[in-house]
Amino acid sequence: MTSDSGGTGTPMIRMAGVDKHFGELHVLRDIDLEVAPGQVVVVLGPSGSGKSTLCRTINRLEPVDNGVIEVDGKALPAEGKDLAKLRADVGMVFQSFNLFAHKTILENVTLAPIKVRRTGKADAEKRALELLERVGIANQRDKYPAQLSGGQQQRAAIARALAMRPKVMLFDEPTSALDPEMVNEVLDVMTGLAKEGMTMLVVTHEMGFARRAANRVIFMSDGEIVEDSTPDDFFSNPTSDRAKDFLGKIL
Ligand code: ADP
Ligand code: MG
Repeated sequence: MTSDSGGTGTPMIRMAGVDKHFGELHVLRDIDLEVAPGQVVVVLGPSGSGKSTLCRTINRLEPVDNGVIEVDGKALPAEGKDLAKLRADVGMVFQSFNLFAHKTILENVTLAPIKVRRTGKADAEKRALELLERVGIANQRDKYPAQLSGGQQQRAAIARALAMRPKVMLFDEPTSALDPEMVNEVLDVMTGLAKEGMTMLVVTHEMGFARRAANRVIFMSDGEIVEDSTPDDFFSNPTSDRAKDFLGKIL
């Protein structure tokens, strides 16, 4: 079952015929995926099925062997200045927060806008404070990452990604490294973003988030997109044996 990808305009993310190997290992197999502006797609699948690789190819952290990848109608160039600019359209948040350890939270959020977007320092700081306010950690602005809880660090990482005014946000298991009591503070920020219309691709094991915030679930297995449906359909009526097996293990 396929879900409505929403309208006929330019997809925000388009992948067509994408293949990727690591040596002999075929990790992405002929991936076709279109994500419409404002759509929130949760990516599910067993460990090793290619979810992280899928995310990483979208902003060219991983090169692909074959196929087309476009963000808002533009293919990312393989390298150079244009790559940095276009990559800035795709915000990415990882399991490990990946903040710069020797910079304050405020500096973490202002660094890329100043360097890549050429934003003036005062403007970058103003915008950073708004974002830190929005994710609820403005009072932590002068601390270093190690002085924050995991949930606060992850919220800082989201603010840092948003500071580039991305068109798309990719989240790769953003709550998997967090203590359970901090998971919701991060999911709440993500749910807010989804409601505001951000286009999001979210790899997560948080089924509550998938049901609440996603318009679409894609299920991957062995480098393929095996199911593509609404959360309701996926959870109540998975069609493939692989998805049934997966859901049987996690629900
Ligand atoms: P998932 O995120 O679904 O757990 P990944 O995309 O991380 O899956 O990995 C897909 C497959 O590719 C796995 O078999 C993994 O071991 C392999 N893989 C991932 N990254 C690399 C790499 N840099 N070099 C070699 N193999 C890799
Ligand atoms: Mg992964």
